[in-house]
Amino acid sequence: MANAQLQVKFVTNRLGNQNLVHSGFKFQAKNKRGIRTYWKCSTANCPATINTLNNIPTKVSANHNHGSDPMQLKVDDVLQRMKVRCTNELTPISTIYEEELVKLRTDDCNDDTQELVENIPTFPSCKNIMYNKRKKNLPVLPKTVDQINIDGIWTRTTKGDPFLLADDNREGRMLDCCYNV
Ligand SMILES: [Zn+2]
Repeated sequence: MANAQLQVKFVTNRLGNQNLVHSGFKFQAKNKRGIRTYWKCSTANCPATINTLNNIPTKVSANHNHGSDPMQLKVDDVLQRMKVRCTNELTPISTIYEEELVKLRTDDCNDDTQELVENIPTFPSCKNIMYNKRKKNLPVLPKTVDQINIDGIWTRTTKGDPFLLADDNREGRMLDCCYNV
């Protein structure tokens, strides 16, 4: 059944892998060959599978042997929003976590919202994945002056002016950088 209208979306799981979500069920990629992916329901021993071509479903066998878990999918959505912000912003990670929780409470708060908030993992249990997201975009902080390595985009200010003005690269190294970034 080739049907480009089927609604699927993609979320990143705790390990940083992509999951596919279809009709309230989560699928894991089991096999990838070029732009073709074979997905299997993430519930153990469930026979449901989906084939995608370029992320568009080409074959869906939604023969699940269990009910869907809409609460887990809502939790995944919130965590996904946090992870995207950790990648795109430099706001402190604990602030992003708190802000996203606050947003849930103010958006049309009801029993479902309360249940959702209670199901969000605590900050200590989900902070590592968020720090990992951020680390991917930022250079590692140097521990000594010798480890400072300014090259590529980091030699320019956000306006494109030179940032690194001088580097004698000797023992007792002196770096002179533009402070007006
Ligand atoms: Zn299933």
